[in-house]
Amino acid sequence: MTLAALQEKYGHIARALAALYGFPTWRQHKLPVDELVDCILSQSTSDTNRDRAFALLKANFPTWEAVRDADTEAVIEAIRPAGLANQKAPRIQAVLRTISEQKGSITLDFLDTLPVADAKAWLTSLNGVGPKTAAIVLCFAFGKPAFPVDTHVHRVSQRLGLIGPKVTPDQAHAIMEAIVPPETYYQAHLNIIEHGRKVCQARRPLCERCPLTAWCDFYQQTQPMTTAAQPAPTKIATKQATKLRQRKG
Ligand code: SF4
Repeated sequence: MTLAALQEKYGHIARALAALYGFPTWRQHKLPVDELVDCILSQSTSDTNRDRAFALLKANFPTWEAVRDADTEAVIEAIRPAGLANQKAPRIQAVLRTISEQKGSITLDFLDTLPVADAKAWLTSLNGVGPKTAAIVLCFAFGKPAFPVDTHVHRVSQRLGLIGPKVTPDQAHAIMEAIVPPETYYQAHLNIIEHGRKVCQARRPLCERCPLTAWCDFYQQTQPMTTAAQPAPTKIATKQATKLRQRKG
């Protein structure tokens, strides 16, 4: 499918999702450094555990300088609810040290004046910071046009056929940024996540309740071929459809 066709398809999807979930207005979720640390804590854990660890970290250390200079064991202890604390604590401290060394203090405010591509490049140069974290910091803390692809966005976009079956979450960022209008990245990200949580769930998508069936490769594969025009399914849609049929059978 051409980029223009994908953009048109996405337009239908976006309108259907907006009708369902609204069109959220951007608001700053966390301050930039807080958002960055929060993202590192969120790796391989639930939102609840991430939030607990973040709250404990803030409660135990008055400033990010205090986290940076603390005994690593104390940081590990504070963030234990997030899991992988032995890896995340030194990673957070290393990131805070790098920011301090390069910028003279622990601030990411300079990112606001950089072109988005340069801001992404700077963030992803930090050890342990990938495209998703960089996009979350830029989109959520600065309102910049960067599109984060998390597990929900990746799954739903793949089922819909917006991204191909072999596209990794990291690779999906550039593709989704080409398909989705930049001024709507924030809304698109939140609405696709909401849909992934409520309807297009990982284990069993609730297609019978979904308003996106007409534009969904996965759905087209799970239905009897009664309509003349069926979009070409992606390989992943075929695989997921087969699994669903097996479960139904
Ligand atoms: S039709 Fe089914 S697979 Fe497609 S987006 Fe909706 S819930 Fe997900």
